[in-house]
This record gives sequence, C-alpha cells and structure tokens, in this order.
Amino acid sequence: MLMRKSIETSYGTWESNFDEFPKYITALQASNPDTVVKWFHKPNDSSNVATFKYIFWAFGPDIDAFRLCGPVIFVDGCHMKGSYKGKLLVVVTKDANNNILHVAYVVVDEDSSHSWCWFLYQLRHFVAQDRKLCVISNRHQGIINAIENLQEWEEPLAYHRFCLRHIRSNFMKRYKNFSLKKLCWTIGSTTLKRKFVTNMREWCLLYDENRRWGILTTNISESMNNALRGARHLSIRACIDLTFNKTVQLFRKHSNVAMNCNIPLPSCMWHLFCNWDTRAQNHNLTKRLQNCYKVMDKWHRRKYEFVHYFQQTCTCGKWQIERLSCSHALSVFLYKGDNPLSIVNNVYQSISKASYF
Ligand SMILES: [Zn+2]
Repeated sequence: MLMRKSIETSYGTWESNFDEFPKYITALQASNPDTVVKWFHKPNDSSNVATFKYIFWAFGPDIDAFRLCGPVIFVDGCHMKGSYKGKLLVVVTKDANNNILHVAYVVVDEDSSHSWCWFLYQLRHFVAQDRKLCVISNRHQGIINAIENLQEWEEPLAYHRFCLRHIRSNFMKRYKNFSLKKLCWTIGSTTLKRKFVTNMREWCLLYDENRRWGILTTNISESMNNALRGARHLSIRACIDLTFNKTVQLFRKHSNVAMNCNIPLPSCMWHLFCNWDTRAQNHNLTKRLQNCYKVMDKWHRRKYEFVHYFQQTCTCGKWQIERLSCSHALSVFLYKGDNPLSIVNNVYQSISKASYF
C-alpha cells in the first residue's frame, strides 16, 4: 500500500494515468523523434470509454541503434504486479560489445497467441521493417503460434530458435538425469559434425544454418527482466518512464566506452580475437585444393580442421557462425599475409558501434 501511495504521488493514480496518457505520449514523441507508441483497445466494449488492452512502445534512439546490431533478437516477458495485472514483454538484442540494447516493449492484459501476434506485428512494421531476423525465445505456445501465423515472421524474413537453457531445463524435468542434462548442452552447443547426434537436429547449433550467430540462450533478456523488475509494480506511465530512464542510462554508459575505444574491435570481441590469434601461432597448415587449407594443431597432429578461404568457412564452424575469424582461419591469414580485420563483419567494427551514439 505504501509503495502504491508513493507511486501515485510521483505519477498520479492508475486511473488518471489513462486519462493523461495521450498528452504524455505526444510529449514523449515530441522530445524523442521516431519513438513509436501504439495501443489496442478492447473490441466490443459496451461502455463509451475505450478500455486499454495492449500498449507497445519503442524509443527512437533504440530503433536507430538496433539497425547497427547483429540480426538476432531475444524475446521474453514478466508479470506485472500493480493494479494492472498484465504482462510486460520485452525485445532485446546484443550490441557488438555484448551489451544489452532494448529494442521494444509491450504491456498486454494476458499472455496469449493474440497478444504475441499483435506485439510481433507492431515490431515488424514499426521497428524491424524488412530486416531478416533470428528470434530466440523459450518454447511459449503464444510466441510459437504467433510466428507460425504471421506472414511477416515467415522464413526467410525470420527464423525462430529456442533458448537452449530452457530446452535443457525441460529435458531435465522430464528425464531427471544429470548426465543426459550435460549431453543435451554438449549436443545443442556443438559446432562440430563429429559431436553431432542425428536425432537431435532441431536444437543443435551445427544445423542452425548460422542464423543465431552462436547465441544459445535468452539469458540476455532475463538479465533485462531483472533490470526491469521494478517496472512490474508501476502504473503504465511510470513503467514507460522507467524503461526510458534505463535506456538513457545504458546509452550514457556504453557511449563513453565506445567513444574511448582505441582498439580495432569492441573490447569483448577484441579479447576473443586476440585469444584466437595466440592459438593460431600453434597451428601448422598445408595447402590442399585451391584456397582450401588443412590446419593442424602443432601438438596434437590428429586435431585438424579445413579452412575454405574464399567461402569464409572452417570445419570447426566458428568462422561462419560467429562472423569472426577462428584460430584456423587466422593461421591462413598469417600464411597469406592478409589482414584478418579487413573482413570482420560490420556489426563488430568499433567505428560502427560508436556511430549509433
Ligand atoms: Zn576453425
């Protein structure tokens, strides 16, 4: 009750929130160009007053930044706790330095196929537009139905993949066996054919056709949920304000890092690149066919992979999945005297990351 009183003191009552809402949205959009806010009222409402059912919002700066991030989004939701017993659904992505970027939000009165369809329709038309995306989520029936039924989210415009951690936890609930749980992760996360077990194709990274950029779980949207936990108790205006303030905080924090970045890749990618570069020093290679190289580990000659230089693929799978040269590819670049940074995906370039702030 105390919490409700203090929220009402700052943001007005839950009822007045709805009355003032159009004015609030106009002001929000005026000060943040390209911000999208859409709402849907209950159909067949007998009263003269339209009753709110869903509301979708995405801030202009987040939409711009999203265009420069990799094409993988994570969707998840949490229950609201205040007077409004709905659900807050969020879409997030990762930037080149593995930071969360908020893409869009929706508050819905119930977690259903209809609400997911409405949300994904707004997301496609007002944020993602014609961009090809991979959607990673848990196996919630609402989102599965929505993606299956919406033309805008059909392949090749969108690919739906499940979060491996959720699959592993469902697997554990059913089989209650720790070695099977471990095997589930090993199979799901392998990029190597020799580790693949045929009847588990559905959630194996190896047969993912490189859609999910090596990302296996929705952990990122769950950390987002933790950050938004406070929003669940709030009135709708306070909830939008909170997501806006979180966005401003994240932009401030990450823009400082991006502006002061004096290495060729964002720090987390640069760290990975340097690691693989060190490993490349321990590889020997022999040329096979034209532009195909067999790359062997100096100390374990039975460990080897094949790099197809012009196709930008390696049999270890990492080059094509993560879009960053693996240690085997780096040893070929070294051998040829080419600069591996010249073909790094735009998404990972420091300059591209800095440009969205
Ligand atoms: Zn490789």
